[in-house]
Amino acid sequence: MDLKSNHCSPVLTDPAPINKSRLGIHSSLLPYSQQGASFSSSKYVTIPRKKPAKLDDVRSNGWLDAMKSSSPPRKKLIKDLSVEVALDDADIAYSSWMLKYPSALNSFDQITNYAKNKKIAIFSDYDGTLSPIVDDPDRALMSNDMRSAVRNVSKFFPTAIISGRSRDKVYELVGLTELCYAGSHGMDIMGPLSHTVSDDYPNCIKSNDQQGKEVNLFQPAREFLPMIDEVFRTLVENTKGIKGAKVENHKFCASVHYRNVDEKNWPTIAQCVHDILKDYPRLRLTHGRKVLEVRPVIDWNKGKAVEFLLESLGLSNRNDVLPIYIGDDSSDEDAFKVLREGNRGYGILVSSVPKETNAFYSLRNPDEVMKFLNSLVTWKHEAAK
Ligand SMILES: [Mg+2]
Repeated sequence: MDLKSNHCSPVLTDPAPINKSRLGIHSSLLPYSQQGASFSSSKYVTIPRKKPAKLDDVRSNGWLDAMKSSSPPRKKLIKDLSVEVALDDADIAYSSWMLKYPSALNSFDQITNYAKNKKIAIFSDYDGTLSPIVDDPDRALMSNDMRSAVRNVSKFFPTAIISGRSRDKVYELVGLTELCYAGSHGMDIMGPLSHTVSDDYPNCIKSNDQQGKEVNLFQPAREFLPMIDEVFRTLVENTKGIKGAKVENHKFCASVHYRNVDEKNWPTIAQCVHDILKDYPRLRLTHGRKVLEVRPVIDWNKGKAVEFLLESLGLSNRNDVLPIYIGDDSSDEDAFKVLREGNRGYGILVSSVPKETNAFYSLRNPDEVMKFLNSLVTWKHEAAK
């Protein structure tokens, strides 16, 4: 497969803002700076006198730095500076970054040229990709125009949504019966009936979808259900005193949103999650966009979910298939990596700021994702004429 040369960059947590030295530009040209991101400053840390060692836990293991960088405070910075200059600087930094991760819209001809005589399969994250990131996760609704775009795409290409939310919730938000859905970062997959998959994944069982159609159901972390439920309830109880904190149960993972928590209380929320996790060695923490996520320690992720779905759809081990994965978050990096390492397809990172990523291409925001999906449909229409 003649994809572009590899430029692997290991991403262990949320795709961090790109290192300024890698861009070869002065830090002042970046849209935000990581300077001051450390919580060693007393400005950010209020260390309780009674428990002097406590916050060292979350500081030393990098949680607080990751929380700071998980969603860059771009607007705040722009507000502090001359608007005209700050926007220009941000644009320069973004343009430099796009040399490495070109816009999937600008590279559309290149993508479709490569896709000629191939079967495209579309995989997409939900939050921040098909819907805007908003303060209240319950209000992260996709627009009707986006829903139409996804529906139209699914008429031409096998399409799957792989979200960190519970599968039921993301199905409720998207509301399209034509798609495959995977929830809990790929730990809860409902896909088409496939005997090959049932043979390769012994825990895969037959089930029925919302319309009563027979499907395959694969839940590799099923044994963790009671544990996640217990942790969810403890998280709710222990964070109820922190204003703005919101805990969600995504069935096979639990998340603590701190987008609406005053920054001075972030160390408290990090310590709270850290303390609970100490009692659950089989669970681990990952960082999303202003969210701490607690997940089972299993060898499964969105990348493996893509492989599972490709096999379910009869599209694995074929040279005439081009999977495209679109996502904005750290957990999407596993899928980008699978496509990049196998030279199998294209990852597209949705980001309005430069970030380290395993994707090949970029799009700025969900609006550009919609344009890209609509362009694919138009291209397919034209090709069919
Ligand atoms: Mg997302």
